[in-house]
Amino acid sequence: MNVALLNCSILTTEGEFIYQNADLKTVKKIIGKAKQIVSAIGHQSTADILSKILDINVPMNRIQYKQEIGDVAIVFKLNGRPAEGKILSEKEIEDIGYSFGVLRKIDTKCYEDNCNNKGMFCFDCIRNPQLSDLYEK
Ligand SMILES: [Zn+2]
Repeated sequence: MNVALLNCSILTTEGEFIYQNADLKTVKKIIGKAKQIVSAIGHQSTADILSKILDINVPMNRIQYKQEIGDVAIVFKLNGRPAEGKILSEKEIEDIGYSFGVLRKIDTKCYEDNCNNKGMFCFDCIRNPQLSDLYEK
């Protein structure tokens, strides 16, 4: 699976998404299963702090990320909202505090052979996805 790192919970394409809060341990497990990691972190201080927290190299990368079905985005969320246009230092990010979210773009098409909705949008066969699905397989 492809994993992207985002600094806000943004829907970059149209479609169906699931967004769940995740703790650092879970985030690290998901990253451990990533085939490819793309950073879309636009500020150097956020990239630096994420590199430290996640123990991987997170480059600053001002890209226009487009999330596709099956892609997982790890969202780094500040617990407060900085003043408009303010570039925070690592220290200020630590002071404000942060948490993580996991944003998945899902396929809502039904693949069940014995379902009348096969090949179409199906509410009946979408199960409630667990974050552990992302790293236990
Ligand atoms: Zn179905």
